[in-house]
Amino acid sequence: MCGIIGYIGNRPATPLIIEGLKRMEYRGYDSAGIALHGDGEFIIRRAQGKIKVLEKLIEADELPWTVGVGHTRWATHGVPSEENAHPHRDDTGRIVVVQNGIIENFLNLKEKLRGLGHKFSSQTDTEVIPHLIAEYFDGDLKEAVLKAIAELKGAFALVVTSIDDPRLIAVRMGPPMIVGRSDGTNNNGNGECTLAASDIAAVLDYTRDVYFLDDEEIAVLDHDTIEIFNFDGKPVDKVITHITWNPIQAQKSGYKHFMQKEIFQQPETLRDTILGRFDLEAGEIILDELSEVAKDNYANFNHVLMTACGTAWHACLVGKYLIERFSDLRVEVDYGSELRYRDPKIDKHTLVVSISQSGETADTLAAARGAKERGGTTVSICNVVGSTIARESDAVIYTHCGPEIGVASTKAFTAQLAVAVLLALHIGRKTGKVSNDKCREILQDLIEIPQHVRTVLKDDEQLKGFSRHYKNKQDFLYLGRGINYPIAL
Ligand code: GLU
Repeated sequence: MCGIIGYIGNRPATPLIIEGLKRMEYRGYDSAGIALHGDGEFIIRRAQGKIKVLEKLIEADELPWTVGVGHTRWATHGVPSEENAHPHRDDTGRIVVVQNGIIENFLNLKEKLRGLGHKFSSQTDTEVIPHLIAEYFDGDLKEAVLKAIAELKGAFALVVTSIDDPRLIAVRMGPPMIVGRSDGTNNNGNGECTLAASDIAAVLDYTRDVYFLDDEEIAVLDHDTIEIFNFDGKPVDKVITHITWNPIQAQKSGYKHFMQKEIFQQPETLRDTILGRFDLEAGEIILDELSEVAKDNYANFNHVLMTACGTAWHACLVGKYLIERFSDLRVEVDYGSELRYRDPKIDKHTLVVSISQSGETADTLAAARGAKERGGTTVSICNVVGSTIARESDAVIYTHCGPEIGVASTKAFTAQLAVAVLLALHIGRKTGKVSNDKCREILQDLIEIPQHVRTVLKDDEQLKGFSRHYKNKQDFLYLGRGINYPIAL
């Protein structure tokens, strides 16, 4: 998850883009960048860290340009760094792209584009997009984008622009994308402009009349027009939505609390976490991240030790049930805060799995470090790319949830459970305990989970009914057996 914004107006774009990015910082904040249409070339500034670092970088710059795009990143592919920060360019530097999401087939595309002579300068999945668009670009950016996105697999939202066709093309295939226009009245003196953004919060000061793109739609933004098409290039009629939220409500997408919003994000975070990590037809798990660790089909391990703190510790308990069910390995679960102070029997035959949303949980980090010093092989499950635990592990499987602001873990926990299923099946397949058919059967269920979650969350009346019924009760007794025991805990 991240925040993207595009602006076409008649005032300097930079302050508006920076302000928009700040309003979306809760969507991601490991790096940020902007690209402006300068005189015949893009002016690009990118920085690792929060938006204020980018702001500092450009503080002394004179940037009078009035068209541009911006991005605040929450990495999924490639560590947070200046070179991995968006916007990304093609070889000529004449096409730029900002992306929110995941391009599942980026490795294949990268290989193909390399074969055609393209050079890459980042580790992101995003960078293939401007290169691919460049391959198709023949003066009409919309046409080139349509051809390029037909080759992309995954869940993504984009804003694309080119020096040779300075319109903004906004694309939605999964993550949100809104577009809007203001004729300069009722927008706090911000003038005429056309905007695209991930989030209403970013555009409220400029316009309150927006179109919500649906999946498989693109919008072509110019100085005074917005046209919307489907992925076949056919025009789509859309209805304008007038937004009445204040900026704080907008950041929470109208929910009362971030935690409530994060609960409702679970269909997307579960989908993004499992995306590209299985081959349903073959009944196989694709976890390239584990290629080194699993290269002897896990035959060098006789023991799995899972460690975490708090909510993630419960995800470990679920992981134990799953790995024990799908393999012959012995699995132990330990609190990070206990493991680090014990004298655990760990050696080169121990696979140590640590789970931490932030990848910075001090006790889990110390436990994983200690396990490595004793000769264990460490795998971590984290939500923050490039975090300390992720960096120090022999392998890392990322959950793709975006930042979790609520203190009680919701979407991060369920994504950890999804990864636990994938990891257990991976071990099961590699050790020969799980057949392709069995794997396919379980995968089929896993794939349906985001939709089941959506169905449960949609039943507002039922949820409200439960709330009314239970809200004044003093005590609860949670019961669960097997895999539901940790959930009851
Ligand atoms: N997958 C892209 C990256 O890692 C976009 C991540 C995001 O949505 O911030 O750069």
